Amino acid sequence: MSQNVIEFHYTLKNKAGEVLDQSNPESPLAYLEGSGAIIEGLEEGLSQMSAGDTGEVIVRPEKGYGFRDESQINTVSKAQLPAEDVKVGDFFQAGADQHAPVVQVIEVNGDDVKLDANHPLAGQDLFFDVKVVEKRPANPEEVSHGHAHTSDSGCCGGGGNSGGCGCH
Ligand code: ZN
Repeated sequence: MSQNVIEFHYTLKNKAGEVLDQSNPESPLAYLEGSGAIIEGLEEGLSQMSAGDTGEVIVRPEKGYGFRDESQINTVSKAQLPAEDVKVGDFFQAGADQHAPVVQVIEVNGDDVKLDANHPLAGQDLFFDVKVVEKRPANPEEVSHGHAHTSDSGCCGGGGNSGGCGCH
């Protein structure tokens, strides 16, 4: 199967129409099809669009960030947290590992702190306004690296290295 690189702009809104996230207006998001870099439902929507197309892609939780799981909510004591001053809405990484899940404080009750490890967008329908800027076949280097290379951003956030990709 040949893979494409798709560059696109997006604005993500929730059901209430509030903007939750958007791409940098100066530089579209680029991704390699099938690399898992973006959520499944958005990838499905974009795969049916062509360069220059705009449209709305609605992503349900099963193809987005999944459903909320109440077993992902745990109560710990303040002493177990990396900060002393915690308030509702704070985020922590639950462990030293950089891949450790991010948890959010949802309740503070004396010394007890309730933490939610669900993704903040879990259980939500997501509304993406997208504009496809470019769609082109991936080059062999991108396929072997498993991600898109763009001329303006360089690779892996490297900032425009001209001599190919420095990420491997
Ligand atoms: Zn690379």
